[in-house]
Amino acid sequence: MKVLVINCGSSSLKYQVLDMTNEVLMCKGLVERIGMDGSVITHEKIGEEKVKNETPMNDHKDAISIVLNAIQDPETGVVKDMSEIGAVGHRVVHAGEKFASSVLITDEVIKALEECVDLAPLHNPPNLLGIAACQELMPNTPMVGVFDTAFHQTMPPESYIYAIPYEYYEKHGIRRYGFHGTSHKYVAERASDILNVNLDDLKIITCHLGNGASVSAIKRGKCIDTSMGFTPLEGLVMGTRSGDIDPAIVTFIREKEHLDQGVANDILNKKSGVLGISGVSSDFRDLEKAAEDGNERALLALKVFAHKVRFYIGAYIAEMNGVDAIVFTAGVGENDIGMRDIICNDLGNLGIKLDLVKNRVRGKETIISRDDSKVKILLVPTNEELMIARDTYNIVNQL
Ligand code: ADP
Repeated sequence: MKVLVINCGSSSLKYQVLDMTNEVLMCKGLVERIGMDGSVITHEKIGEEKVKNETPMNDHKDAISIVLNAIQDPETGVVKDMSEIGAVGHRVVHAGEKFASSVLITDEVIKALEECVDLAPLHNPPNLLGIAACQELMPNTPMVGVFDTAFHQTMPPESYIYAIPYEYYEKHGIRRYGFHGTSHKYVAERASDILNVNLDDLKIITCHLGNGASVSAIKRGKCIDTSMGFTPLEGLVMGTRSGDIDPAIVTFIREKEHLDQGVANDILNKKSGVLGISGVSSDFRDLEKAAEDGNERALLALKVFAHKVRFYIGAYIAEMNGVDAIVFTAGVGENDIGMRDIICNDLGNLGIKLDLVKNRVRGKETIISRDDSKVKILLVPTNEELMIARDTYNIVNQL
């Protein structure tokens, strides 16, 4: 079965077609500037040159229709007609407490996701638009929703309840949800395969370190804690997001700087993190270059970032009473040799010993701990699209 994976943002859309008989990626692409001047699709049939086409798109339905044309194109396409696509997998950011795993999309599911719009006002509406457009253009193709929050639904209440009046949880659903769930789940499963140990016998800490970053504690295959919270703002220091701060700082800065709520939110989401500390960049490559050139705040930003990752690793070791494997993934986790080194430095007493030579690797599945390290350290490139396609295939295959 061939599966189309759709990840729909407000003005952009990413897609892939995978052949699930052997999990091979056939084509992928990106649509940008939906509903704006200069809308453009960049399509890549695997093994061939990327093709870029500027073409007007008023809305998500136009965008999906152009994607469907691209994947059926006699030259750049991968299917003769849409009947070859057995299912569509949709990435959906927030499923609240409603779904703990991927589901076949029905009218009830859509209703449930609409009820989650308040929790993810920027993400769920475009995700739902993508589903509606696909349903209109491919009315007979089964669709599956794969949720960023689902994997974290196994957390126990002591991990997800905030110490604020309980009525806010009951009335407004304020609790920790966690994000990047598809990635944490994928890399944990890969780690179990690579180590050749059943997930049920492993305690794993997964570090998804990208522009957005989160850490999860995974015991016997189930997430028991994660660093992102009610929104993706909590937890680690990120490219431009503050991560954990004393909540009183928000009111304090608003008063001192005479900021309204929107501006304060913008500062915490877009002007903080390693960008905010360094004043240089949110990109770790720029920070490392600046630090090498003697920029002290760039160096400080890198140290604060690493400190927070170590802080969560320590906390999750305590929560799980140990750890068997630590997994690094996403842009920084997969590529930043120096950052992995700082994070794992001097943890020998916890049985965590990075091999500095094996660590000199980028974007490749491999074990990077020393042979005498009790805790295995792994590098696993994430592949959320493959995970979405797998869930979609497994659900639709059983219909
Ligand atoms: P997201 O999906 O959250 O936008 P990614 O997982 O793609 O983020 O990660 C992007 C980040 O990865 C960049 O901001 C950059 O800091 C970091 N990155 C990518 N390549 C390297 C590299 N070679 N060395 C250090 N950092 C890198």
